[in-house]
This record gives sequence, C-alpha cells and structure tokens, in this order.
Amino acid sequence: MNVFFHGATRSVSGSLHVVEARGQRWLLDCGLFQGRRQDMYDRNAGVPVAPAQVTGVLLSHAHVDHSGRLPRLVKLGYRGPIYASPATLDLCALLLDDSAYVLRTQTRILNLRRAPRNLPPLPDLYGEEDVAQTLRQMVPVAWGTPVTLGPGLTAEFLPAGHILGASIIVLREQAGDAPCTLAFSGDIGRPGDWILPDPAVQAGVHHLIVESTYGDKTHRPYQYARAEFAKNVGATLRGGGIVVIPAFSVGRTQRVIYELHAMIAAGEVPPTPVFVDSPLSVEACIRFVNHADALRPLAHGVHSFAWLDAHNVVSSEESRLLRARPGPFVVITASGMCEAGRVLHHLKRALPDAHSRVVFVGFCAEDTLGRWLRDGHDSARINGDVVPVRAAIDQFDSFSSHADQLGLLDWVCAHGAARSVFLVHGEEPQTFALAEQLERRIAAEVIVPFSGEGFTLTPDGVHSIHQ
Ligand SMILES: [Zn+2]
Repeated sequence: MNVFFHGATRSVSGSLHVVEARGQRWLLDCGLFQGRRQDMYDRNAGVPVAPAQVTGVLLSHAHVDHSGRLPRLVKLGYRGPIYASPATLDLCALLLDDSAYVLRTQTRILNLRRAPRNLPPLPDLYGEEDVAQTLRQMVPVAWGTPVTLGPGLTAEFLPAGHILGASIIVLREQAGDAPCTLAFSGDIGRPGDWILPDPAVQAGVHHLIVESTYGDKTHRPYQYARAEFAKNVGATLRGGGIVVIPAFSVGRTQRVIYELHAMIAAGEVPPTPVFVDSPLSVEACIRFVNHADALRPLAHGVHSFAWLDAHNVVSSEESRLLRARPGPFVVITASGMCEAGRVLHHLKRALPDAHSRVVFVGFCAEDTLGRWLRDGHDSARINGDVVPVRAAIDQFDSFSSHADQLGLLDWVCAHGAARSVFLVHGEEPQTFALAEQLERRIAAEVIVPFSGEGFTLTPDGVHSIHQ
C-alpha cells in the first residue's frame, strides 16, 4: 500500500491524502484550502490526481476543509463513488451548498479587482449543479460494517466523536497472508463528550494518519468552564440583559443549545427563551434530530427533541423583530467569527449595552471581528458604523470539538502495535509538539510529511518513496 499527502500537511486546511493499493487509487477526504482570496482560488482550482484515475473517495466528515473540494473534483469530471456515514452525507447537502455560495461571492470580489486591469474574469470553482451531482455520487456507509472497495481492499467507518457523523476510516489491504491496515483519524473528538460518541480504537492497526490541530494544547477541564458559563449567562439573564452567542452552525450551535437546556433543567440558568437566528443553524439542528442514532443517548434532563425546542428564527422579518425584542433572552447566531450574517445586527444592539453579554465558544481567526472583540477593544466597526463595547465579553474555548494533546496521545497510544504515525492537519508548532511527546511514548516511527511526499506501507514498516 502506498500513501501520498497532498493537503493539510503542516497546515490545517485542504485535507486530501491518496492511497494506492491493489491497482486502485482512493482519496481520503477532498477538502477546501482556506486562506487569502486569490491563493484560495488558485489552490482549490486543481486536484492532485486526474479525476479519471480516482477509483473512489472516502470522506471522514462534512466540515468543508475535508469535503469542500468534492464538487470541484466532480466538475472536473469525476463520476465515481464517495463513501461517507449517513449523517455526513446529510450534512454535506447543507454545507456544500453554502460553500458554493461563499466561493461564488469570493470569485465575484476577485473579478471586480481584475476588471480595471483588463484581466479576464475567473470562472466559478463550482456551482449548485455540481453540488447536486456530488450528492448523487455519495454512498452511505454504516459504522462498523466493512465495505469492499475492490479485490483485496476493504474500508470500515468508525465513530470519531468530532461532529455529527464524523468517522475514523480503517483501510485493510489483503496481500497474501499478511494484511496491511491503515487508520485515518479524520478529526478526533474528545472522550467523555455529552453528545458525541467516544473516538473508536481499532485493534491491530499497522499505520496511522492523525490530525494534530491542538497537538500542543491542554483544554481547560470542561466542568470548570461550564460552571463559569452558567454563572455568567445566568447573571446577565437575571439582570434582564441579552446574551449573544456567535457560533458555527454545525456542532457548536447544537452543543450550546444542549448545555443551555441542561442548565435550565438544573436551575443553574433562569428559564429564558433561547433563539437560534440562522437558517443554516436551524437546518443543522434538524439533522441532529434525524440522526440521533449517531449520538450518545441524551441525558442531563435534555430530551431528544431539544434541538427543535429552541425558538427557530428563519425569515429575515422574524430576525428583524427579534432585534427589537426586550431582554432577557439568549440568541445563538452565525457566523461564529462574526465576519458576516445576522450576528452583526445582534452585536450592534448588544455591544453598547452594559447589561448584555457576548459569549464566544469557538476559534476566531486573525483579522475577524470576533478576534477583535475577544482581544478586548473598547469599540468596534460594524457595517461602517463605530459601536462602543460596553457589554461583557466571554471566551470559552473548552467547547472545542477537537481532542487536545492528551486526547491525541491517548488515542494514538491505544494503537500499541502501530509501526508508523503520520501527523497532519496542524500548524508546525502544534504538530511538532505532539511528535515530540509521541516519540517519548511509542516505538512507532513518527513522520510529519511535506505536501507531495509518498510512503510505502507494509505490515512490518514504512519507507519513503523517492520520486
Ligand atoms: Zn472537522
């Protein structure tokens, strides 16, 4: 079996690895590169393998940095199968349409800059029709049921605990008497999560490809963050204020709704209306209810339809009315980094109000309004207006859906017999910090591949392919 690394190498976006075995060529993920507009366009325009030479795709989960280049592959002519868990397939129907819209907007901005320089307009990377064709090529695969990919090659999907439907993918090549097994982590979640299953461990794996997003970090124990969250949010609501929670539509929004329900049920937070003001987030909530079998049995006083219990705000008229509603209430809204969307209207109202609170529960990249507010500035520019910041600003990174360094070490070490561990999906400081810790704990060879690098894997070991 050969493996080649073409994305998320020493970085966190564009996840794509190629596995060659038994005359077949399979892609593990086909994710979108994220970054500066022109760079993003150029890197996402191509794929590393000619579509006609791809046997099939195995998709770990629906986040666009893992799935967002699939419609591009299809637009370039790929017509083979794309295997994914049923919930991943369902979430892709949401997220890839959204991705097509975002990419089209980006391309339009690029073209506005090209026109004065007499440069021809760039075509869209893909559109809704390519997304529809991608979804037609997707094949649902249940966790724990191996699928035959071709002669002598099987794949098994297992829960990864990162977002709804997120999977670890185990590839088995039967070559003579000695099978060779490779496990791809996708993104790994946190053991002991209230909603998502624990990341699975497969016995007898020879080689691992592992994410390293938080390879150098230790998350604050969740129960402490949760207690502080309940105390702060409860205080604001008792004082009649508004709590604005900017959150990503898939995963983080549902976690916050779940926590708020549990806190209200336990009397930690006063019973107050919780609004979800984002059509995409509301759609994602419906997916959570439809795929309850991919989640843990719900507990903590929360029943299985909690995600539909929140007051869903879909139309822009309803959203406008909500902005005029007096407190107390909670509104969970997108985007999580406050770059665009309805969150801007809610921030414009809440930020100047000393009785209100803005609660960040996720990562905010540099140069975003979310990061600006997290950094503690006393005013902010929103849609051209300068708004004073008097509301309280909280940050709770413990809501992360990625394992921290200890979680990653535990997961890798549980695969005691592995011969090699490839670290991907992390910036270099995070990845090398994890590599150093792993080298102290396991006998396996730890490799941080460069883009384009290839390796031959056998049951006994690994060696680099010099091209
Ligand atoms: Zn992810």
